[in-house]
Amino acid sequence: MTNSKKGGLPKKVDSFLSGGGEMGDIIREMDWRKTPLGDPKNWPLSLRTMVSVMLDNPFGMYIAWGKEYTQIYNDGFRPILGSAKHPKALGISSAVTFKEIWNIIGPMFEKVMKGHSFRETDFKVPLNRNGFTEECYFDFSCSPIRNEDGKTGGILVTIIETTGKNKAEDELKDLKERKLALEALKESEERFRTLADNISQLAWMTDETGWIFWYNKRWFEYTGTTIEEMEGWGWKKVHHPDYLEAVEKKFRKMIEKGEVWEDTFPLRASDGSYRWFLSRAIPIKNENGQVICWFGTNTDITEIIRVEQELKESETRFRMFADSMPQIVWAANANGKLTYINKAFYSYSGLSASDNINQEWIEIIHPEDREESIQEWNECIKSGREFNLEHRFRIRDGHYRWQLSRAVPLKDANGNIESWVGTSTDIQQIKELDLQKDHFISIASHELKTPITSIKGYIQILLSTYNESKDEFLKKSLAAVDKQIIKLTNLISDLLDLSKLKLGNLHLVKESFNMNELIEEVVEEIRLINKDYQIEVTFKTNANIFADRERVAQVIINFLTNAIKYSPRNKLIQVKSFLKENHMTVLVKDQGIGINKKSQEKIFERFYRVEGKNEETYPGFGIGLFISSEIIRRHNGEIGVKSLPGKGSQFHFSLPID
Ligand code: ADP
Repeated sequence: MTNSKKGGLPKKVDSFLSGGGEMGDIIREMDWRKTPLGDPKNWPLSLRTMVSVMLDNPFGMYIAWGKEYTQIYNDGFRPILGSAKHPKALGISSAVTFKEIWNIIGPMFEKVMKGHSFRETDFKVPLNRNGFTEECYFDFSCSPIRNEDGKTGGILVTIIETTGKNKAEDELKDLKERKLALEALKESEERFRTLADNISQLAWMTDETGWIFWYNKRWFEYTGTTIEEMEGWGWKKVHHPDYLEAVEKKFRKMIEKGEVWEDTFPLRASDGSYRWFLSRAIPIKNENGQVICWFGTNTDITEIIRVEQELKESETRFRMFADSMPQIVWAANANGKLTYINKAFYSYSGLSASDNINQEWIEIIHPEDREESIQEWNECIKSGREFNLEHRFRIRDGHYRWQLSRAVPLKDANGNIESWVGTSTDIQQIKELDLQKDHFISIASHELKTPITSIKGYIQILLSTYNESKDEFLKKSLAAVDKQIIKLTNLISDLLDLSKLKLGNLHLVKESFNMNELIEEVVEEIRLINKDYQIEVTFKTNANIFADRERVAQVIINFLTNAIKYSPRNKLIQVKSFLKENHMTVLVKDQGIGINKKSQEKIFERFYRVEGKNEETYPGFGIGLFISSEIIRRHNGEIGVKSLPGKGSQFHFSLPID
């Protein structure tokens, strides 16, 4: 370089452009007047000094001058430009030469032009310098070149390429990553094997041809075999000969088709016994969708099959049992839809089995009972209470017969209704006998009424005739007979009422009357024959009601006689009447033996009597309250009881006021 200095400079360039090797020559040859820098003679001193320093420097240096960033660089810098960018870069703008990375370096140059300088090490840029993009790394510094006036005229970049060093590092990193990935793969395979060995199922893997190369521990434990025996197609040895052919056929088909496979078959255990398995296998594919291997599991389903079998058998048994019953037996789902009905239904109705039992069921119900039946059934489905209803079914000859239908809900462990089971029993004969009995009671009580009335009359005459007699025995006997005759009369009139109710002959004769006056009358009468009881009467209000006076009196008498009958010790009885919401309520309260909760719901039913040691000692038929409730019901009134066993009872009824 010093030689060329000594050898003299080319005429057209200034002395500052001396030396610089190859780049020195190119720079000197360049017609700078065609560039934004113009004639080197006119270059600012700072630029000239910098170019001179740069050309003498063996390290890569680069100048981008002016707002156009016109480039000048030395020999050290040239390799960075590769064959694609050099020598075109000289004298043109950085923005053109480095257009692919201008978004990165452009903003940096802008900053330097504002007076900042900075450096970077191993700075990565994707450079296209040899006809393709490569990741290049550089250590570089950028600093402003100031003019004489202190303003930044251009940028000086000193640079060393570190791509080679970084590439080696990258490869090392790659290698490390690959090693880690390999380790992770090994670890994940180990994890898979531990998992596969510890699941309760038998597991296996085949290659793409169906050759089994791996079984889990459970397989060997169960079959008592070794991998040498089992490898490939060795599995056939533990299959039951009766099923093997079919299993193999299906297995080969799976391999051929590459689709998920499922089969059930028995497998021999190490003790020689067979258990049933559900086997499933899935193909594992590579990124091109080719099957590379298969993973399969065998799940022991012997127990499930046994339970299923038992269930089937028990269902068959239930059907056989239900079909042999003379009653109609049926089952329904939680929504009340019939799911089963036994043979009796068809032989009874004359219908033949079809899919439409839900419709047929309704059709055979007597039209008069249909609505009530549907309503009651729906109510039970909604509330879960037991179904209990008497209704008529049409039999095969077209006649109707009475049936008693009952159904109970079957619940799961959480108490939710799962289904219903019901029966319908023919009660026609019972109904007919009941009717006969009602007729008999009706006739008998009628027939008894006349002689009893006549006896009652004679007793009255005898009582008044012997009223003054000194024969105490005669007087006592007559009084006792009179008391018993009253009881007998009451009983007969209850029986008469009962048969009237049953046969629909109880007619009401309504009139307007004062309730409190009626209570006074009745209480007075009761007091006369029950002198040892204290009956207290309280009227809160007074009102007229429009009702059958005789029948209402009968209800009050029934309440009062019961209160007396069932209160052997505490002999205070309270009667109250009051008005509430257009209804007149009458209360009869005693302090007697009371009624338990369960019986309270039933005492208004026909012939119901509370069971228990105490109650048996009280005579009665259990019809008084039934008649009372029917009387009140026919007046659109309400009847009820509140009671505590051992403390007493409070009966009430209320009727709409006039
Ligand atoms: P009974 O003729 O048997 O008294 P009822 O129909 O009048 O018939 O009453 C039905 C049942 O209700 C009775 O058998 C009795 O067990 C119970 N009962 C009625 N009233 C009372 C009461 N005041 N105290 C206790 N138990 C009563």
